[in-house]
Amino acid sequence: MLSVADAVNAVLREARPLDVESRLLTDAQDLALAETVRADWDSPPFDKSLVDGFAVRIADGSLSLPIVAIVSAGEVPNHSVEAGVAVQIMTGAPLPNGTEVVVPIELTREQIGDDRQRRVEITTDISRWKPGTNIVRRGASTRVGDVVVEVGTVLRPQELGAIAELCGSVVQVRRPTRVAVLATGDELVPIEQTPGPGQIRNSNEIMLCAQVHRAGGEPVPLGVARDERAELHSRIAAGLSADVLVLSGGVSMGEKDLVPSELTAAGVRKVFHKVNVKPGKPIWFGVLDRADSSRCLVFGLPGNPVSSMVCFELFVRPALRRLMGIEPAESHVISAQLTQAHTTKGDRPTYHPSRMECLPTGAVVTPVPWVGSSDLRATVAANCMALFPIGDSMYAAGTGVDVVEW
Ligand code: AMP
Ligand code: MG
Repeated sequence: MLSVADAVNAVLREARPLDVESRLLTDAQDLALAETVRADWDSPPFDKSLVDGFAVRIADGSLSLPIVAIVSAGEVPNHSVEAGVAVQIMTGAPLPNGTEVVVPIELTREQIGDDRQRRVEITTDISRWKPGTNIVRRGASTRVGDVVVEVGTVLRPQELGAIAELCGSVVQVRRPTRVAVLATGDELVPIEQTPGPGQIRNSNEIMLCAQVHRAGGEPVPLGVARDERAELHSRIAAGLSADVLVLSGGVSMGEKDLVPSELTAAGVRKVFHKVNVKPGKPIWFGVLDRADSSRCLVFGLPGNPVSSMVCFELFVRPALRRLMGIEPAESHVISAQLTQAHTTKGDRPTYHPSRMECLPTGAVVTPVPWVGSSDLRATVAANCMALFPIGDSMYAAGTGVDVVEW
């Protein structure tokens, strides 16, 4: 059976970055840049004051100086700082010519002279101040043409702000991935209904849609398809218009597990069925190649909720990252030390819902009590999955294990 690593590689081989589109910056959060953005502006764009105070020459520090002008942020100075005068200046205002330093207002005292003119007395010795004190020079942090954000970067608040400051309001990004989510199963009812005998709520849809959303995609919930060919056929056809179709349920060996054969009948090329992993072994993956050379990646996830959740994180999330131009697409694996001994029994590598914590001494992880792939409630206490390799083993406290954050 295929290993997790081989299966992830097989998925990523089929996943190609989506088209590039122009977007308003206000509509680009969490998308990946498809261009390297360079500054078309110096930062700061002019010499400016870092404080509210008085622009003066150093040699005049011991004098009482007439205040000959005031310059606020957003204004242009109309007076230069000549010997023997001060210009009052606000934080962020452009520096008058001739300024050597700005003395913060807290280090001054204002007076009214005999001629009723405002004057300022500096109450500290500035004779040893360096020219440029409390001033930031034009281009000190960024020059026109400097790289602001590299291609492939996911736009977080700080990137959005930096681009807004230095480049303007439009960016080239990879468009968000549209991910159709289709739950299958005769036993499922919508979550707002009370299940009848033998029925359960369709909890996978909301969970998988939320996982899509967290991964940066746009979920398109398609409701429930019964385990019946005609209904599966029409719902699958609807889902195949998305960039990715994620199904849950109906991929195992039961008589009513019709999803693989219906996908094949819909023209989806099978890439693999079954991976050596617990939970999630029956996962199915294939590709619909369209005439216009676009494609739909199709994941048939096992219906048990933890299987669906784990398989999404292991296989679907990397695919979404690749489609959206985010690299590396593979899950980020951290090493953490077990806080307690842990026993595994199993014929497959197991991803166990676990709780990780970062301590000053490093990351530690505690597997949460979990009764298996139907036990979704256990994952509420978890924030990661810890990998335990194949076989019956006892892992001592302190053993390092691989962990993938959720
Ligand atoms: P299946 O993969 O269809 O054999 O389903 C395996 C188990 O997962 C069964 O116990 C199903 O009732 C359950 N299951 C399937 N689909 C869902 C769903 N959408 N939400 C919650 N549980 C589900
Ligand atoms: Mg089923």
